[in-house]
Amino acid sequence: MRELKEACGIVGIHGHPEAANLAYLALYALQHRGQESAGIVSCDQRGLLVHRGMGLVADVFTEEILRRLTGQCAIGHVRYSTAGGSFLRNAQPFVVGYRGGGLAIAHNGNLVNAHLIKKDLEARGSLFQSTIDTEVIVHLIAASPLPTLRERLVEALSQLRGSFSLVLLTEKGLFAARDPQGFRPLVLGRRQDAIVVASESCALDLIEAEMVREVEPGEVLEVDEKGLRGIKTFKGPRRQCVFELIYFARPDSTVFSRNVYEARKEMGRVLAREHPVSADMVVPIPDSGVPAAIGYAQESGIPFEMALVRNHYVGRTFIEPEERIRHFGVKVKLNPVKGSVRGKRVVLVDDSIVRGTTSRKLLNMMRQAGASEVHQRLSSPPMIGPCYYGIDTPTRAELIASSLGVEEIRQHIGADSLGYLSVEGVRKAIGDTGDEFCMACFTDQYPVAIPEESPARQLTLFQEM
Ligand code: AMP
Repeated sequence: MRELKEACGIVGIHGHPEAANLAYLALYALQHRGQESAGIVSCDQRGLLVHRGMGLVADVFTEEILRRLTGQCAIGHVRYSTAGGSFLRNAQPFVVGYRGGGLAIAHNGNLVNAHLIKKDLEARGSLFQSTIDTEVIVHLIAASPLPTLRERLVEALSQLRGSFSLVLLTEKGLFAARDPQGFRPLVLGRRQDAIVVASESCALDLIEAEMVREVEPGEVLEVDEKGLRGIKTFKGPRRQCVFELIYFARPDSTVFSRNVYEARKEMGRVLAREHPVSADMVVPIPDSGVPAAIGYAQESGIPFEMALVRNHYVGRTFIEPEERIRHFGVKVKLNPVKGSVRGKRVVLVDDSIVRGTTSRKLLNMMRQAGASEVHQRLSSPPMIGPCYYGIDTPTRAELIASSLGVEEIRQHIGADSLGYLSVEGVRKAIGDTGDEFCMACFTDQYPVAIPEESPARQLTLFQEM
């Protein structure tokens, strides 16, 4: 089952004269959560003002565009999706006309029952204009007979299964909500009198907003001229996404009440205790493996070396020469420091192996650079199942650990030894004693049931040329 994945970043600002500007900066800080499209909707006395585009935040917005997004409130979104869903039509915030005004919504997550709700709504006459789950929420709100938007939103959210952290904007105010499991992060901050919500605290840092707290799993907040209030808390077992802490969130963020950098370092420390090895240097695969490699080096006493250098200016595509260059895709991004690794026993640390292609190529490159031994260590357990709750992972068949055991993977990637952090090790490193986290990709235990995918679910509605 290959769903449209919605690994995204969101922000909402209420009560600031430069709301769109702050939203823009927050999206800048959240760019790692999505590079495919970006959008901001602001609100002034004329109504909602919208700008969305394909590409990076810096490319989508100009000073002139930001000047036109006036008003005291704004929401923003950066989107990451897999092939098939990459159209401007799917870019967020999603905006519709609503009872004489406008309604905009920005959503991070993946609704596992969206196709079922959609089928039901279509049978009752709804026409969908995008393929994103988010549109389902808007239709549920519109179809509700309840008298206020607040009640309609709560009713709509109660029908959703899966993950959602979202912000919703109308001329009257801003709502923010997080699903009962709290799969995706969402933090609440303040900048003087302005209220800010954002996917990660690094967005608050850039706009000099103070972190107040996390939006709680299942919580729905409303902000308007009367201030901020909680209007509903859905109950459900907390199952926050452990992969946010392992890979996805920025290391300078605090998510799920944990400092991401410290959590990753601790994973590296526990990894060193679980899988020690005699070696001359610990080398991270940058950037994702850096904090765990520091932890591994500190715990083991083996020197840390940045012996793999990353090119930070690599775009999504590059023109390859016709004559084949081996491992070109990885080589253009990462290059070993030959003088440092020659004749050395290297521990190569990364956060995860997904398909196994990166590790295989890098290990080969380290050997070509003269390393005498290469030991691979991962600061997460073998990834055996795809994510249905918003992290972009390939299908189960493409996950190397779904079909191969550790020894077979070691042979496949060509490592002298291979060690994965255990599930218990992850729990220990992040201080999870109460089963607060979703670890479905490592345990195959999915906390929210995945309904069968409807064959009618389409990735494209029509071709946009
Ligand atoms: P692979 O070559 O498929 O094994 O990819 C492994 C690399 O992908 C590691 O360096 C991870 O840091 C990185 N990675 C892990 N999860 C994701 C994801 N959801 N999206 C993009 N990269 C990822």
